[in-house]
Amino acid sequence: MTVVEMHDVQKAYGEVRALEHLDLAVERGEIVAVLGPNGAGKTTAFELLLGLVRPTAGTVTVLGEPPGRRVRGRVGAMLQSAGLPEQTTVRELVRLVGRSYPQALDTGDVLARTALTKRAARTVTTLSGGERQRLLLALALVGAPELLLLDEPTAAMDVASRRTFWEQARASVDDGATIVFATHDLTEAATVATRVLVISQGRLVADTTADALTHHGDEDLEEVFLTLTHERSVAEGDD
Ligand code: ATP
Repeated sequence: MTVVEMHDVQKAYGEVRALEHLDLAVERGEIVAVLGPNGAGKTTAFELLLGLVRPTAGTVTVLGEPPGRRVRGRVGAMLQSAGLPEQTTVRELVRLVGRSYPQALDTGDVLARTALTKRAARTVTTLSGGERQRLLLALALVGAPELLLLDEPTAAMDVASRRTFWEQARASVDDGATIVFATHDLTEAATVATRVLVISQGRLVADTTADALTHHGDEDLEEVFLTLTHERSVAEGDD
């Protein structure tokens, strides 16, 4: 089953072309990493998939439907911009968000899975950066989503939290979910993802696996990434 489909998608903000002629399909059970330099269009792609913005041209399909209201109950998301009600307790918030989904998981189970049981009675404002990220994952998981869209989900996490995070995310894939996540961490992409997409200046410049990107063996992933995205020549001032 195709979970995500983008066909010839363009998104412009005035003069800025955030995405250009993007074509991609993600199948059920995949864990897809989206890599790209700052401003490449990763967040814009997530916002399109969530129905938060509309494409300037092209078509976007999520779980066979147009993004937005009709599929909202089947998609879980972690966005960089997510604001949280700071005075609500962790348990209340997970329970509250769960109520808006047709087949919500048990609040206690979700807190246990995201290692937040000991923080359940705390207000959101008292959480550390990594705990806040785990809460965002809990909120993304509580609706038992078929698709998880995670925008730089582990950015604030320490090594142990990252490991727990991906164990839980993988468990949801074992239960039938599909994950698309953005990251700047090439090692994370290589170890976690079954497929790697590289976006540069709004265009898809690679759709492959981390192994295939480096299969010649004479370059490491970072070098391949910099070459694909032309960041090396920009950094060296010879673009
Ligand atoms: P980062 O790695 O820095 O998070 P990104 O790959 O997620 O970057 P986007 O946030 O999708 O990149 O931005 C793509 C381009 O679109 C950038 O040039 C950005 O400035 C522009 N852009 C994004 N949202 C808007 C908006 N609401 N209005 C105007 N320009 C926007």
